[in-house]
Amino acid sequence: MREQFPVFDLHCDTAVELSLQHKDWASNDLHIDLERAGRLLTHHQFYAFCCVYDREGLPLPAPLAEARFLNAVSDFYSHLGQNNTTAKLCRNVEDLIVAAKENKQGVFLSLEGPEAIGCDPDRLEELKELGFLMTTLTWNYPNALAGPQGTDQGLTDLGKAFVRRAQELGIVIDVSHLSEKAFWDLIDVTTAPIVASHSNSRAICAHSRNLTDEQFKVICNLGGLVGLNLYAPFLNEKGIADFSDFKRHMDHFLDLGGFHHLAVGGDLDGCDRLPTGFTGVESWNDLGRWLLQQGEEEETVNNVFNNNAVHFALKHLQRSRVGR
Ligand SMILES: [Zn+2]
Repeated sequence: MREQFPVFDLHCDTAVELSLQHKDWASNDLHIDLERAGRLLTHHQFYAFCCVYDREGLPLPAPLAEARFLNAVSDFYSHLGQNNTTAKLCRNVEDLIVAAKENKQGVFLSLEGPEAIGCDPDRLEELKELGFLMTTLTWNYPNALAGPQGTDQGLTDLGKAFVRRAQELGIVIDVSHLSEKAFWDLIDVTTAPIVASHSNSRAICAHSRNLTDEQFKVICNLGGLVGLNLYAPFLNEKGIADFSDFKRHMDHFLDLGGFHHLAVGGDLDGCDRLPTGFTGVESWNDLGRWLLQQGEEEETVNNVFNNNAVHFALKHLQRSRVGR
């Protein structure tokens, strides 16, 4: 039986935790460090920056949110500098190819909560300059662009302008956290594939953070990706989950046509309740082995854990189209 699996995870909150808790990236007691990531066959990871709320989950005033964001980015650049023999920032597809060739972790940056740039379409170029290749439209609060899950607020005119500018720049729109109304408004205007970086199936676990079958199918039809989330309350309504819950969501999405569109977005370091037996980034190996033991095909596990996200990155995370 295989011991190691390749993983390309679409969402973690590790970068901001490193900054707030003054932790070391190479080795720490968070869910992700480079040492334990090295136990995977290969590891590429989107690091999300969510800086719009305080430790109690209350919204931060805009100047504070922005300061925390820029500080976390600056701290993460320092970590990248100190660990440039094991990890490489990927600003475009060429960087991923180099990272893979040099056997380094491909590091991708995403924004979770555009309040950190004032929800301003004119600041997306600045975001791209910082190396960000994906952004959500909301976190858990309504903003000038759209409403979050659990509300019926759609996409505003500013939200549409934000989507247009982001897609012009090649920044991918991440629909996790978005309201259903805003999601369907987005479908009307999007000109590029979209990603739900860390969302599960609402048919399997009825949580408003999860996707309906119709949402999943349209993301697939547009050539996008959905990353399976490990947060126990999104896997099982009881709030406690194990590997079998992960498999139920995975199998359901595969049945809906997800073979080339399903990925993982573990939400590591952004959630406090993981499935039993999953302790951190190294546990993807345990989950992969368990899935094979349950009869999942090796090709399916490889697609979900890694290949679909790699193919998406190679196809859609191109160089900036600015100036063309
Ligand atoms: Zn999130």
